[in-house]
Amino acid sequence: MRVLILSDIHSNLEAFQSILYDADSKGGFDEIWSLGDLVGYGPDPSECIKLIRQYKGKSVAGNHDLAAVGELELEAFNPYAKAAIEWTTSRLNKDEKAFLKNLPLTLEVEDFTVVHGSPRDPIWEYLVTPQSAAANFNHFSTLRCLVGHSHIPFICRPKHETAVFHDFPLDEPLNLGSERLIINPGGVGQPRDGDPRTNYMIYQSKDAIISHHRVEYDIPKTQKKMADRGLPKYLVDRLAHGR
Ligand code: ZN
Repeated sequence: MRVLILSDIHSNLEAFQSILYDADSKGGFDEIWSLGDLVGYGPDPSECIKLIRQYKGKSVAGNHDLAAVGELELEAFNPYAKAAIEWTTSRLNKDEKAFLKNLPLTLEVEDFTVVHGSPRDPIWEYLVTPQSAAANFNHFSTLRCLVGHSHIPFICRPKHETAVFHDFPLDEPLNLGSERLIINPGGVGQPRDGDPRTNYMIYQSKDAIISHHRVEYDIPKTQKKMADRGLPKYLVDRLAHGR
């Protein structure tokens, strides 16, 4: 089986479509695993929900998904995120809200635990420091764990009492072997590692091989939609910088 792994689509239809097109051109995929935050920030929440539901696959909930359906306090978000969530809530129909509300916080699929933030705090924790990574290796029982939330792609390995983060080389198939790993595919709809291109991974289950890919997409088109819909300028601008 070939799996398209992605995270943090954030209502960015152009980025999501570019990934689907690119993944198709690289041999296709059988299903999608989404690591949360389908909505929030971007201009096309309903369209992104509709599109992902056309594919076989599995999704977990992210903090923006739950906030958009009233399951989390908006006070926990910064003013830009909060404004985008309020706008998102106003756009979603009943069926789309029910879909987001019913997403699980954690899934175990094959050798992976799948969460949005971290295995010990699936909603809020940003797994970005060696300390937090090392602690989190004790919070899942599968061989590997997939996380999103920080919008930064990495592979993380445990090392003695701590953990080491590695860059995820592009377009190079990596054999995962039998190591314990925490992997982040990076963000689809709002990359934050200084590279504005969108991110995804392909996992081939037969040989346990994973590859990381980045694609350009029509950023000005997404930005124009955001501006037309009155979403905060700060969120519009940051798409071009990937920060
Ligand atoms: Zn996110």
